Amino acid sequence: MFNKKTVADLDVKGKKVFVRVDFNVPTKDGIVGDDTRIRAALPTIQYLVGHGAAVILASHLGRPKGGPEAKYSLKPVADHLAGLLGTVVHFASDCIGPVAEAAAKALKPGEVLVLENTRFHAEEEANDQGMAKSLASLADLYVNDAFGTAHRAHASTEGVARYLPAAAGFLLEKEIRYLGQTMEAPRRPFVAILGGAKISDKIGVIKNLLGKADQVLIGGGMANTFLKAQGYDLADSLVDGDSLELARELLNTGKGKLFLPVDVVIADKFEDGAARKTLPAGNIPAGWRVLDIGPETILAFGKIIQAAGTVVWNGPMGVFEFPNFAKGTYEVARQVAASSAVSVIGGGDSVAAIQESGLADKITHISTGGGASLEMLEGLTLPGVAALLDK
Ligand code: AMP
Repeated sequence: MFNKKTVADLDVKGKKVFVRVDFNVPTKDGIVGDDTRIRAALPTIQYLVGHGAAVILASHLGRPKGGPEAKYSLKPVADHLAGLLGTVVHFASDCIGPVAEAAAKALKPGEVLVLENTRFHAEEEANDQGMAKSLASLADLYVNDAFGTAHRAHASTEGVARYLPAAAGFLLEKEIRYLGQTMEAPRRPFVAILGGAKISDKIGVIKNLLGKADQVLIGGGMANTFLKAQGYDLADSLVDGDSLELARELLNTGKGKLFLPVDVVIADKFEDGAARKTLPAGNIPAGWRVLDIGPETILAFGKIIQAAGTVVWNGPMGVFEFPNFAKGTYEVARQVAASSAVSVIGGGDSVAAIQESGLADKITHISTGGGASLEMLEGLTLPGVAALLDK
């Protein structure tokens, strides 16, 4: 259950409100690409503006190396936001120090200010308390709406919450509600679909889901490691050699619940134009590699998905970047969209597949946070959420 205060519980009129948003969007030559994350933060921003708060927005963008880098500036994001809101959006070229202080001080109720990239200071990722205090000094209240970074304890996501009354924004609340409820009280059967490159990145997730879900369907490179652990020769397929023992353990605990591909599409090279063959899952000929799940697997997974009450999906079923090996991923996307189950999708690749299929509106909840949604599936508490005031 979501037991944290939200922005709706705060008296924001006439207050300066520091909002940590996730504006980590692609920008090129001063233009914002996919603005999904900016749009997702609009309900909180518009609520605050409408309730007479002065709104100070902070975010990171990209991976600067602890100092300013023009290509990671949030200025294009501030300009884009102005277009979405239809109002002036002020911009401060630093998120702490005299420039930020002057801009925050001058900000009037109903106005919006975007601060420069928090990661232009190495202290952000170190969760430096000096930086957290400097950020807190700009405002009267703190709101965290950055679900995509809520699994990180950084100065602007966790540190600052120690120095101001802190509540969740509407996006954060929605993400935690959907992901949390899915894990705690799923409509059954509860089916989890996991894919992607490696088991090692998702061990905690697989373990937790094996305890909670009724069926766990595994595709992608991850499935190769399980097949290898069963004794098959995977030839040149991507295999997580260090995780074989673990895969055997999971096969054991997951007996009857864990479903692997029954057939696979293999390629003689790691490229879209490679020669292709479909084979039953098993030994792979020398020089070949598994790049997608096969048609029988798509059918088998589809039957389970159609009978589901809840479906959670994270990670592609194959190398979907190559159109010739994208069928498994796109077919699973179609099946999840077609099912009447409560459906929750997280992770950049699965989200991209569902959006490119034009099926996003058939999904109950598409998460804006890859890493954060995985940590929710793992059953972990996110530090950026734990730091907020209890209801
Ligand atoms: P992850 O970040 O762990 O979700 O992994 C996503 C990546 O896994 C994508 O870039 C896919 O191309 C890759 N992937 C999926 N299936 C395979 C496979 N069978 N062999 C190699 N890479 C794969």
